[in-house]
Amino acid sequence: MSHLFYLSTAARPVLDRAEGIYMWDTSGRRFIDGSSGAMVSNIGHSNPAVLAAMRAQMDKSTFGYRLHFETEPGEQLAAKVAALSPEGMEKVFFVSGGSEAVESAMKLARQYAVVTGQAGRWKVISRFPSYHGSTLGALSVTGYDPLTDPFRPMMVEMPKIPAPRAYLDGLDMDNAATGAHYAAMLEDRILAEGPETVLAFIHEPVGGASTGALVPPTGYMQAVRAICDKYGVLLIHDEVMSGGGRVGTFLGGDLWGVAPDIIAISKGFGAGYAPLGAMIAQDRIVQAVQDAGGFLHGHTYAGNPLACTAGLAVLTEIERQGMMGNARKVGAVLKQRLKNLMQRYGFIGDVRGEGLLLAFEFVASRETMAPLPREMKAFDDLVERAYAEGLIIYSRRTRGGYEGDHFLVCPPMITTEAQVDEIMEKLTRALDGFAD
Ligand code: PMP
Repeated sequence: MSHLFYLSTAARPVLDRAEGIYMWDTSGRRFIDGSSGAMVSNIGHSNPAVLAAMRAQMDKSTFGYRLHFETEPGEQLAAKVAALSPEGMEKVFFVSGGSEAVESAMKLARQYAVVTGQAGRWKVISRFPSYHGSTLGALSVTGYDPLTDPFRPMMVEMPKIPAPRAYLDGLDMDNAATGAHYAAMLEDRILAEGPETVLAFIHEPVGGASTGALVPPTGYMQAVRAICDKYGVLLIHDEVMSGGGRVGTFLGGDLWGVAPDIIAISKGFGAGYAPLGAMIAQDRIVQAVQDAGGFLHGHTYAGNPLACTAGLAVLTEIERQGMMGNARKVGAVLKQRLKNLMQRYGFIGDVRGEGLLLAFEFVASRETMAPLPREMKAFDDLVERAYAEGLIIYSRRTRGGYEGDHFLVCPPMITTEAQVDEIMEKLTRALDGFAD
């Protein structure tokens, strides 16, 4: 009997070891990590350079409390992150995970408003569907009913606007009018709430778990930036999943050349080697808060030297092996192969994503884009069939959480084209089984 308790009750194999894009259980069965865990193990497992750097750091020190010590790995990693971030974002605040990064972003925004005489601004508008984390603050901006409903009334409930799902609304992704249409929903909502009460807007540049690699339509990112500027609303990019290189650039926002006011990153930043995340903010925001006495927020393990060593070695390996270029190249191949599946399986309604943040979605009909009936349990079935083939993929419900099924196919950024063949063979066999 296991003494652990989590959301899932499905029996899972016991992990033994992992290397590259492969994982083995204790019975010796091999799996392809087709989703990098939860889009975490971006550089693959057991990278020798990262492990060597961590071992060397372990021999020196594993923990130094950030209020007592600066650390060399912390300083070096912060400098590297700042260099990879948009201009004017020189300051980095470390945390240990995605929810912590989002909490930090929202609290920094709030403290900035307070110290600059805008204490009336407290609402953080977000999108539906969305996922921003499991802690109460992050949950209050999360638009995913099965995860939020059980906790209602929530301590804080934040306003939501629809995510720009052009493919469901039958709108042209490549038409700037589509981007403007969805961005206008943000402006309308800011006006309805009263701009003087709106602190920030948070969204993912490329959607992750809740929307399945949702790519915004042309013009959306820029229009959102302009609207936030117009009303003095801070723009927060949740790059917990899209950041770190998986989309082919360090940040999802880079794909559109849009710099937000605050960025949250995690997952691929520690890449499974250490619990690590960061919040990066515009210098003017950090300066104002620092001048007023400092940011009143922090987590005990944040910025510990071992996690920072891992993060630094991960970024160094991404650069050394040109992994972002590989994510673009192999991602394009994988995306095309996933698109080809649409000819074979009528129930695949959409394939989307950037780099190696890719997903496909099941529908009952491509005409109406209606979701598959819930009783079909496509969501669980395909994952189990893929498991049986030795392929791990990541699934979620698409339409806000209770219906619709999408599957993220997001192998590590070191995946080769030959390994794409392997993934596609297994996935096709799993889909064949589903179609029976
Ligand atoms: N934001 C996004 C976009 C995420 O995908 C996640 C995790 N799935 C989180 C925040 C929360 O991260 P964590 O689970 O590390 O707290």
